[in-house]
Amino acid sequence: LRFQAKVYFDANGNRLRTLGTVMDITVYKALQQQKDDFISIASHELKTPLTTLKASLQLLVRMRENPNTVLFPKVIDQASRSMDKITELVDDLLNVSKINQGHVGLKKNWFNLSDMLEKCCIHVRESGSHELILEGDKSLMVYADEHRIDQVVVNLVNNAVKYAPDSREIFLGIKSLGEMVKVSVRDNGPGIPADKLPHLFDRYFRADERGTQVSGLGLGLFICADIVQRHGGEIGVESEPGQGSNFYFTLPLGEKEE
Ligand code: ADP
Repeated sequence: LRFQAKVYFDANGNRLRTLGTVMDITVYKALQQQKDDFISIASHELKTPLTTLKASLQLLVRMRENPNTVLFPKVIDQASRSMDKITELVDDLLNVSKINQGHVGLKKNWFNLSDMLEKCCIHVRESGSHELILEGDKSLMVYADEHRIDQVVVNLVNNAVKYAPDSREIFLGIKSLGEMVKVSVRDNGPGIPADKLPHLFDRYFRADERGTQVSGLGLGLFICADIVQRHGGEIGVESEPGQGSNFYFTLPLGEKEE
């Protein structure tokens, strides 16, 4: 509780009355605490790739005097991956602030869903960490914001890579549901406990028991849900511990009015 008092005096300086207010600031304090926690997590998450980037750059500076052709591409690669990580985190933060301010507009066009899925996941295919298997109707066209839907799929696939490192395959599915289309990203990873499922799409929520071992801010799925809902679709997940996870979202096939 916060107590505030205001004392009123007359022209001669005699006290007239005292007005006191008592406010319950529990919610305010909790929000403040959440904000503080978030800032420290975000700073920590940014610090890790920044430290790696700094170390890589220092190595490159030293290599100017002693060139090492074997190490050179590896260090460049490490620096570039750290930059990607930083960009990803900053993009997430910017996206969330845009969502909060209601500034996310959609730029829709017709595109082939299957081609988009192929293109946006090329980085996973090239890394060789997982095999990507595309299943379903390859001819489906949708009228949606291609860039934003690409962002949703990349987020779901990157999560499968991050949280299901031992899943050999990631299955991308396209299924027509009449007026809607369903896109799914399925892995054979560790799965998610039932009590965590209802909170997965909440802002800042992280279900990973290993905590800080896998980097992230708990914003990716929140951003995905916002994008999908803005399109008039739904996002969800089916998962059980030890049974992998199947993240899916639906989109209207083609509403052209906007
Ligand atoms: P972040 O990856 O930054 O934590 P997300 O919003 O993308 O944020 O994910 C929220 C949480 O959902 C993750 O922390 C993780 O615990 C869980 N999660 C997401 N995708 C998977 C997956 N494919 N397998 C297991 N857990 C997952």
